[in-house]
Amino acid sequence: MYRKIKPAQLFDGYQLFEDKVLVLSDTGTVIDIIEAGDAGEEVQVLEGILSPGFINCHCHLELSHMKGIIDEHTGLLKFVNQIVSQRYAQPETIPAAIEKAEAEMVRNGIVAVGDICNTTDTLFQKEKGILYYHNFVEVIGFEPAQAQQHFDTYKTIYNAYCERFPPKQVSLTPHAPYSVATPLWKLLAAFPGNGLLSIHNQETEDETEWFVNGTGGFKALYERLQLKEAPVVPQGRTSIQTYGEYLPQKQQLLFIHNVFTTLEDIRYAQGRFPEASWCLCANANYYITNRLPDIPMLQETGVRLVLGTDSLASNYSLSIWDEILRIQKHYPQIPVEKMLSWATINGAKALQIQNRYGSFEKGKEPGVIQILDHTINRLY
Ligand SMILES: [Zn+2]
Repeated sequence: MYRKIKPAQLFDGYQLFEDKVLVLSDTGTVIDIIEAGDAGEEVQVLEGILSPGFINCHCHLELSHMKGIIDEHTGLLKFVNQIVSQRYAQPETIPAAIEKAEAEMVRNGIVAVGDICNTTDTLFQKEKGILYYHNFVEVIGFEPAQAQQHFDTYKTIYNAYCERFPPKQVSLTPHAPYSVATPLWKLLAAFPGNGLLSIHNQETEDETEWFVNGTGGFKALYERLQLKEAPVVPQGRTSIQTYGEYLPQKQQLLFIHNVFTTLEDIRYAQGRFPEASWCLCANANYYITNRLPDIPMLQETGVRLVLGTDSLASNYSLSIWDEILRIQKHYPQIPVEKMLSWATINGAKALQIQNRYGSFEKGKEPGVIQILDHTINRLY
């Protein structure tokens, strides 16, 4: 039994078409895309755009219980401070919030998630197999002398995920340039399980100030933490051009946020990491600092752009469509068709799951969603 659907517009992962019919198996496997004129009878006509399921390349599902707790527009340093001080305030609310947040992603047409984990809190939900997850077990460790200790702590969490997921769905990943000491970087770079990494990159101007000049908010933070040594010695170069040297050439990775990334930074990364993906989290940027990256500039360089929601601690919803609407508000010149490709095929390539997800191509089972003005309907 085949199902034939003719939407007002069909987005196949790459571009929008009119007058095309999507042919699916009864379980949602793509059989073909054909001309409407050749589709014969029993064609279901739908309004709106029909698209492959969305890929959310950056989330922290385990922070879902912090929705609405943290003040908006405070800047990253205050934001991180509030996360650290409040994330365990009401531990009993964590599991229900995780379950609810995943259901929200399902409703919003998301089929796969790059999820940051500092704990094993989300394992119980992920084991149900409702969505595809790449689990980025995220390592934080400021003190250079304690690098091995920090590494071992997170390696235990990594092992717990590896017991439940195939190794290709788990990585041990750095949190951010400012929160990972240089010796810890070296342990992560040498770790054999790390085929795919993710890093919060250039989310705040203070990061640049520290790496280039050794001044700014992070200098103050390190002093407050009474570190014996700063995590990284400033070398007069931006963060990405500093930690980039620690990683193997051609490392597959996702740069998350990129609010203060310059053209020079991108050129550097294109040379060293040609397969990297650049993840935009527009609503989280708006929430935390009310400033978005220079997306048209990123676009012009030809890098692979993808989308992420970040966590409910810094967002109003877990919805890739809401991310697209936010970007559209700031940059109305960017066509929806472009952003849909970021949300689908590009995201699937970033998480290395393009053999199943991200586009309507024969044999794939990418999820099928209908996009109306402000709602998403999930067909598969
Ligand atoms: Zn994040």
